[in-house]
Amino acid sequence: MKITDYIAEAEKTLFSFEILPPLKGQSLKDLCEGIEPLMEFNPPFVDVTYHREEFIYKKHPNGLLEKVSTKKRPGTVGICAAIMNRFQVAAVPHLLCGGFTKEETENALIDLNFIGVQNVLALRGDAPKSENKFVPEPDGHTYTKDLVAQIVGMNHGRYLHEETETGFQTDFCVGVAGYPEKHFEAPSLKFDLKHLKEKVDAGAEYIVTQMFFDNEKYFDFVKKVRDIGITVPIIPGLKPITTLGQISMLPRTFFLDLPDALMDELEKCKSNADVKQVGIEWAIQQSKELIAAGTPCLHYYTMSKAGATYKIAKEVF
Ligand code: FAD
Repeated sequence: MKITDYIAEAEKTLFSFEILPPLKGQSLKDLCEGIEPLMEFNPPFVDVTYHREEFIYKKHPNGLLEKVSTKKRPGTVGICAAIMNRFQVAAVPHLLCGGFTKEETENALIDLNFIGVQNVLALRGDAPKSENKFVPEPDGHTYTKDLVAQIVGMNHGRYLHEETETGFQTDFCVGVAGYPEKHFEAPSLKFDLKHLKEKVDAGAEYIVTQMFFDNEKYFDFVKKVRDIGITVPIIPGLKPITTLGQISMLPRTFFLDLPDALMDELEKCKSNADVKQVGIEWAIQQSKELIAAGTPCLHYYTMSKAGATYKIAKEVF
């Protein structure tokens, strides 16, 4: 079923979450057992992130460096199949522009359609850590709006090498990312919203936001999005802070602010356990306020560790 249909039919705010494929060499069993408790809250869908290969440099005995690529978290498609079978939830794979030619994207979408995936979250992806600028594959997409257009094209039976619309029509519901605190490359929020609208005009049917810790930023974002004529559902992404390290890592990595009131509490914390308690309490308050405001669905970034999200959901759903 499509995410837009789940939202349209829901009588209350839905619960959903995102998982990461395990690091290469780790088992899927641990991941599945880890997220099993969250099924108590009936998530209609679970997102599975996609990770590009990272480049590392291998030093040869002669001193020369060789650039080699490695994929640390493979398995997005396989995990989607596994969790759909095991938990009877819709799996939403993330699909990137980066690292894919259009042909590879087309083939990936055929695989996803064949295993029964009906929803995908279309994203550009970031530059690999060893590079400082996003560069598409030759014949890949530069912006997500073009990836959305390709997916929607297949929904109309358009394939890359077909002259006419004669191909099998897929039926993907496409989501895209939105940034309440703006995407880090965008010079202004207005500029970013203009390009968010292009993704929706290309056929995206819902938006999932980057994590935020100040609900006012989300409410302001929703208002601005509506003001420019975007009407699709906007699903807020929430992340409980759980470690001391995340207090500096999250703002640095995701280009967001931690509100003063949250920082006042976090600064009193001496251990990860203290931080986790504060993070859970904060996310509970955020969740309650978002539900009271009639938000269609709350989407939790679990990083595949379900404990904090379980405590929040138990309190809120
Ligand atoms: P785009 O919408 O293409 O926008 C990228 C930038 O280009 C923005 O600054 C935008 O304003 C600008 N822009 C867009 N169109 C134009 C144009 N025509 N001209 C000029 N500028 C333009 N990354 C992963 O690698 N794997 C994941 O699984 C993953 N999951 C994510 C899930 C969510 C909910 C979110 C919010 C992010 C996720 N990301 C993931 C990170 C994402 O890939 C990065 O944030 C990436 O830098 C931007 O992706 P996008 O789809 O928003 O890009």
